[in-house]
Amino acid sequence: MCFTSKVSIAQSPQPTAPPNGAGELLQLLRDQTPRTRAELAKLTGLARSTVGARVDALLASGLLAPSGEAASTGGRPPVRFAFNPEARVVVGADLGATHGRIALTDLTGRPLCEIGEDLEITDGPEVVLDWVTSTTSKMLDLTGRTAADLIGVGIGLPGPVEHSSGRPMRPPIMPGWDGYDVPAHVSRVFDVPVLVDNDVNIMALGEHAVAHPDVEHLLFVKVATGIGAGIISGGRLHRGAVGAAGDLGHVAAPHAPEVLCSCGNLGCLEAVASGPAITRALAEIGITAGSNADIVDLVRGGNIPAAHAVRQAGRTIGEVLATCVSLLNPSVIVIGGSLAQAGESLIAGVREVVYGRSLPLATSNLQIVAATTGVQAGVIGAATMVIQHALTADRVDLAIASQSAS
Ligand SMILES: [Zn+2]
Repeated sequence: MCFTSKVSIAQSPQPTAPPNGAGELLQLLRDQTPRTRAELAKLTGLARSTVGARVDALLASGLLAPSGEAASTGGRPPVRFAFNPEARVVVGADLGATHGRIALTDLTGRPLCEIGEDLEITDGPEVVLDWVTSTTSKMLDLTGRTAADLIGVGIGLPGPVEHSSGRPMRPPIMPGWDGYDVPAHVSRVFDVPVLVDNDVNIMALGEHAVAHPDVEHLLFVKVATGIGAGIISGGRLHRGAVGAAGDLGHVAAPHAPEVLCSCGNLGCLEAVASGPAITRALAEIGITAGSNADIVDLVRGGNIPAAHAVRQAGRTIGEVLATCVSLLNPSVIVIGGSLAQAGESLIAGVREVVYGRSLPLATSNLQIVAATTGVQAGVIGAATMVIQHALTADRVDLAIASQSAS
């Protein structure tokens, strides 16, 4: 299925120093406001001739396009120019344990085409990544684009990833993937940058880009079969020393029963507050919920014990998040993942404990809200990761230089 999404994504903030190349001038124009050469000269403090040369270079690259005319002050009205998000396309892939979802987006991260299929991550990297490349080719055909239009591929995986190399690191549910060179595999078909990260980090990027673009400090928490967090700090994703930042699932939950976790420890957050933990709690009182979707259906259907179990999971997660609030001082905590679909029960439990346990200063402006991007968070986030990489001033200048040399 291909469709045009109405998602609108804000762009990076404007630089304050005068831009010293076409790439930096583009950063200023990424807010998509059309401007004339004279307006750009005034805004940047650069000479009209300098602005003119940089605008011409960006026009030649396609990244800038004419966008109407300003009012005339006598004579021919001056042309306005704006960032052209259609100039290139990006692929964002979100690979889960049992599903894959890929979007072809424009340069704002807006999906132009999206395909989702059931797939097993346990089939191994060759099968799964061949699906990524063949689906990418299909989406390029469907949208009338070519591989030359593609500026990069972003991939989210359901396990720890060394972002700098794009290799999964001892992922527990991904046999055959440990240390696999994901970028090399994809680059055999598409000779573009391939960036890889874990699924929670890309969801954090997607939710941040779509729903909270101006928020500098945000914590995205995924609550599903596993529990994890993506940390946006100073407007950027914080990955930590080896990409393990935000791995909340195996933090010891305060006051929790000593339930054995899949990692071998007792009382991990994931062992007492994830979907499977709620399923076990409900089974003890004779209620069957075989999947996270069943739990959500029970809560939405007004099942009181299920709503109670989900709210209790929210409280337990809130105990850990209260510590995170003291450490990170976010202004927004977004709760996402399949169990967030259970409505207010989960978030009410989180709020109850976080607001009760944190110091007033840390919570004075803190919002705790549900994710809005749903299943699109991962694909938009994976594309956003590529766009942030490819459209830096330096890389735009390099692309323009190599284009004019060829
Ligand atoms: Zn654990």
